[in-house]
Amino acid sequence: LSEKLQETFKRLKGKGRLKEADVNEAMREVRVALLEADVNFKVVKDFVAKVKERSIGQEVLESLSPAQFVIKIVHEEMIELMGGATGKILIAPKPPTVILLIGLQGAGKTTHAAKLANMLKKQGKHPLLVACDIYRPAAIKQLQVLGDQLEVPVFSMGQDAPVDIARASIKHANSNGQDVVIIDTAGRLHINEELMSELRDIKASVKPHEILLVVDAMTGQDAVNVAESFHKDLGLDGVILTKLDGDTRGGAALSIKAVTGCTIKFAGTGEKMDALEPFHPDRMASRILGMGDVLTLIEKAQESFDEKKAKEMEQKLRKQEFTLDDFLDQMQQMKKMGPISSILEMLPGGMGKQLKDVQIDEKDTAHLEAIIRSMTMEERRKPIVIKDSRKKRIAKGSGTSVQDVGRLLKQFEQMQKMMKQFANPGGMGMLGMGKK
Ligand code: GDP
Ligand code: MG
Repeated sequence: LSEKLQETFKRLKGKGRLKEADVNEAMREVRVALLEADVNFKVVKDFVAKVKERSIGQEVLESLSPAQFVIKIVHEEMIELMGGATGKILIAPKPPTVILLIGLQGAGKTTHAAKLANMLKKQGKHPLLVACDIYRPAAIKQLQVLGDQLEVPVFSMGQDAPVDIARASIKHANSNGQDVVIIDTAGRLHINEELMSELRDIKASVKPHEILLVVDAMTGQDAVNVAESFHKDLGLDGVILTKLDGDTRGGAALSIKAVTGCTIKFAGTGEKMDALEPFHPDRMASRILGMGDVLTLIEKAQESFDEKKAKEMEQKLRKQEFTLDDFLDQMQQMKKMGPISSILEMLPGGMGKQLKDVQIDEKDTAHLEAIIRSMTMEERRKPIVIKDSRKKRIAKGSGTSVQDVGRLLKQFEQMQKMMKQFANPGGMGMLGMGKK
């Protein structure tokens, strides 16, 4: 992440409110970071506008600083934008599943045809690799070498027309029990009509189930045009983003997804055959923004948010206002941040440790939640009104037993009793210990 961006966030810290000027300043730096990552400038413009719109005027979340809040939104929006199911090849109900790999020269089509074959073979499939790059003699050889290495058969017909090779390969697969056909095609340095018409012909003849665009992550601003043209002409089902093992920030990922809407299914992370991973939108978002420091910021933000919650809880405990609603709230916090003990530990002094003795079985929280949700507002505030008939109703509503409801109420009562001790000045007086 550019130091400048971090600095801006530092400066914004503590302003307490997300004003238009704050957002504008932060987004100016975000824009620079995205452009440095080679995200297409039009995509950057739209993205920045969208985040601005979402941010301005929003109440800053609890104890988050405005800057943390902005970066949180930026990060979330990027993940959202690049998200979607990944890492899967859709297997056709009737074999063979036909996968067509397309893309510019050097993008990694041949390498990734082999990587996919390797992956599918490990999943118990019987893939067939098909050599449709007839223009460079070395291309067929390259695929054969990889096929031999993986013990995956390679279908080739020398310099015959690619469309004929593709058609013949399906027949070959059918009569040899191969259930996935992966067609490696020729690329060009730039998109041209010759390439497109060749690919259209292959598409029409073999009707691929998956047309995957292979893109080098280092493709900069141009990634948008490349992806858009292929998508318009052929209709893409997904993208493989290659060479992510390099030091590129990979802004192409954001550009491609934003413009074509196509899911990035896989990431290529090396020349070796096992260097193929499902695409991770969250990791990619961090990477485009400039790696780990951003995440650290957000994690810190989250921490301070939780601390604030714990403080509020303390206030309630002191005032003896702790209700079943708070109990429920605590459980939801817990789901977000781990075991209840960690919340209790945030409470001052010995209070947390004492409360821990109440022993809430963490496995039961789903039950507990259901039970509280089945109570009326009055019951949550004044559980004393819950007698047998109400217990029955609550048990029924929550799919639990009357005993479960009884147990929850007992636990809650214990907890309240303990709180009274803390709150009572003549009691154990532990609260004072927590204060500085
Ligand atoms: P094609 O022209 O699209 O078929 O591209 P190739 O599959 O022949 O790949 C071009 C070059 O990029 C080869 O030297 C590959 O070894 C290399 N390559 C492909 N994918 C990756 C990757 O994910 N990481 C790295 N580091 N190199 C890759
Ligand atoms: Mg090739």
